[in-house]
Amino acid sequence: MEALASFKREISSPKKIFITTHVKPDADALGSSLGMANYLLKKGHEVTVVTPTDYPSFLNWMKGNDSVLDFSNPKHTEIATQKLNEADLIFCLDFSVLKRVNELGEMIRKSDALVINIDHHQDPEDFADFKFWSTEAAATCELVYELIVQLGDEKLLDKDIAECLYAGIMTDTGGFRHPNTTKNVHLVVAELLDLGADTSQIANWIYDSNSVNRLKFIGFAISRRLVVCEDLHMAYFAISKKDLKKYQSRTGDTEGLVNYALSLDGIKLAALFSEREDGIKISFRSSSEVAVNKFAAEYFDGGGHKNASGGKSTLSLRDTVERFESLVEENQDDLYRSVPVTAD
Ligand code: 5GP
Ligand code: MN
Repeated sequence: MEALASFKREISSPKKIFITTHVKPDADALGSSLGMANYLLKKGHEVTVVTPTDYPSFLNWMKGNDSVLDFSNPKHTEIATQKLNEADLIFCLDFSVLKRVNELGEMIRKSDALVINIDHHQDPEDFADFKFWSTEAAATCELVYELIVQLGDEKLLDKDIAECLYAGIMTDTGGFRHPNTTKNVHLVVAELLDLGADTSQIANWIYDSNSVNRLKFIGFAISRRLVVCEDLHMAYFAISKKDLKKYQSRTGDTEGLVNYALSLDGIKLAALFSEREDGIKISFRSSSEVAVNKFAAEYFDGGGHKNASGGKSTLSLRDTVERFESLVEENQDDLYRSVPVTAD
């Protein structure tokens, strides 16, 4: 509470504010950043939102999207660097370790600005002056809503902010299906509805904006690139650079694919390996009783939430998948400690 009072003092006069979020931002990352930005703008601050990379175009409807700088875009790098150097306050939203923002991480570590971390991931690194952090929260957007209310600024919330925040809560709860969908999630969402958030329109923008190529890619991946290991309660997709090229894959096109593997009856652990320019990007998902974040952190230089984590590998796609299979086999007692043994 003391932290809240001194944070409140910090934002009580106009400041230069830099907001950033994790690489390849999802709806929670961008929604919390733009929700926060729109609120801080209303309070009279100068605000710049910088993402470390690009993000899916199905998020482009959020208010403030057009002013977002992409640090990885050579046209934006210089101005984004200048904004970071000039900042009085730096907000780090929806990530808990500085390496999640690429080069921006070390720049933030060296900065003299006051750093604020608002996040719901496990094992946060100690890099911020103010931390509004809770793993109980389903989404960073939920924490941003609560922070604004605790600051006594509920009256500044509006439809645009509510829609940014709703998007993150909707997607980080898997459309209100994951075990993180608490009573508080529904209470916050009820308030966002009161503010005028058009929830079915948001669902439409995010979930129903497929290109034909993307739909064909999903069909191809399910029919040709899905491997199911029933005895290990595990299934995964391995997608090569060539596959992505063939379907003219764009940022966001692999989003949600891993869930098809987890949706299989009896499957407790699912993974998606996609071959990118800078190595293999991995998404892990697990059923509620299996903690996949420790596995991601220990073996794949990653982390995240108990049932939704990510990681990376510098091995080839084939070697990464082989290593994954043997690691699941070796660690199955640990991973599936509480999973009942099935008859077959
Ligand atoms: P996704 O599979 O959707 O990319 O990520 C799932 C969750 O794991 C997200 O909360 C994301 O922030 C986290 N995550 C993804 N990749 C990494 C990574 O390389 N390192 C860490 N620490 N977390 C990750
Ligand atoms: Mn999140």
